Amino acid sequence: MNAVELIEAKRSGMRHSPAEIEWLVTNCLTIDQADSALKPEQLSAWLMAVYFRGLDMAETAVLTDAMARSGSRIDLTGLPKPWVDKHSTGGVGDKTTLVLLPMLAACGLTVVKMSGRGLGKTGGTIDKLESITGFTTALTIEQLKAQAGRIGLALTGQTPELAPADGVLYAMRDITATVPSIPLIASSVLSKKIAGGADVISLDLKCGSGAFMEDLVSARNLREVLMAIGQALGLKIGVEITDMSQPLGKAVGNSIEVREAISVLTAGEFHSARFRELCIELCATTLQLAGVEPAPAEALAKSEAVLTDGTAAKKASEWIDAQGGRLDFDNLDSLPLAPQKADLIAKRSGYLGRLHAGMIGEAIIALGGGRTARGQAIDHSVGIEVHAEIGSEVQEGQAILTVYARTESEAQTVIHTLRGATEVIDGPISTVPVILG
Ligand code: URA
Repeated sequence: MNAVELIEAKRSGMRHSPAEIEWLVTNCLTIDQADSALKPEQLSAWLMAVYFRGLDMAETAVLTDAMARSGSRIDLTGLPKPWVDKHSTGGVGDKTTLVLLPMLAACGLTVVKMSGRGLGKTGGTIDKLESITGFTTALTIEQLKAQAGRIGLALTGQTPELAPADGVLYAMRDITATVPSIPLIASSVLSKKIAGGADVISLDLKCGSGAFMEDLVSARNLREVLMAIGQALGLKIGVEITDMSQPLGKAVGNSIEVREAISVLTAGEFHSARFRELCIELCATTLQLAGVEPAPAEALAKSEAVLTDGTAAKKASEWIDAQGGRLDFDNLDSLPLAPQKADLIAKRSGYLGRLHAGMIGEAIIALGGGRTARGQAIDHSVGIEVHAEIGSEVQEGQAILTVYARTESEAQTVIHTLRGATEVIDGPISTVPVILG
């Protein structure tokens, strides 16, 4: 077996055998070594072949399982059940994990999660958390377990111990335009979830221009694959399809999204009602899935309560402390914000008809807040503040977006590009629900 044969087979639309998939996964782990049987350019060619030719359900299941077994699986025995994990397929302004994890832990669930960095135009939880001074995103399995036992919640970035094959494939897909592939997304997400050891998995499947699934048909197809493979591999799995046609919430960028997350947790003012609603909905559906609050009304009430009574905020503070972070919820000045500010102003009054999430995500990369090369350093301080939602009324002269950039010229370039991301129309038009199905 060799890499060229496998690339040729997939390029011609043939099915891989389980042994061929195992070979790829095993050899991708040594890809950076000079004598590796699989070279980086061969892996990227194979990914592109998969992007065009796909993998069927059986190949995807074998790939998921092999990726999950490329490292250890955390054994959560001894920690209180239910063991829950949450994952998003990625979006623009999607800081939901930062709010949802402490909410779930405040509801008494044990939450252990492995998160990724930004992928393509979508941001990554690890990048966001690294804008908190001192916050460590690299925990060992022992540290994860010990912390989850102490406070009910622990999160790590991709480590060599857990699904390392996903770490290699994820970074390569990010820079080869091969992210939006249903089998590659499904295997990436589920291999991490299996390795994380939880048995209840709540997935937020984003749909729209700021997501990898841009339309409902593809989102439903991905949901079907995630459900089928997750269940076949023994997980209790729930998938919500949620809107990503516009950015989620008021903040897009790394550090500025942490501000919005803290605002939801502390009942501050810097967050959108839509984002808060999503956190409550996802918390409620996870409580139902885990069997903790089977009735929808009680699940919603409990989710709302941990936000309003401050227990989720207290849990978030314990979490940040436990991972070495230093953040005063009453004074968020330690979260960096780039110095040059420029507004995108509405040229006429009317209703916001377009707020293109994908273009806003790409603008963050252009500002330096995302990557275009493997391992590239990013600037956590750049960001975009969103002042209006699709369907909301805007007045001529009102700021629709505010860009935070490192230099005046970068701010102006991005404002110029983002003009095409927004459109004010005569309207009125209806707002888009945050939960699509
Ligand atoms: N999130 C992941 O973990 N993997 C993907 O491929 C996409 C989103």
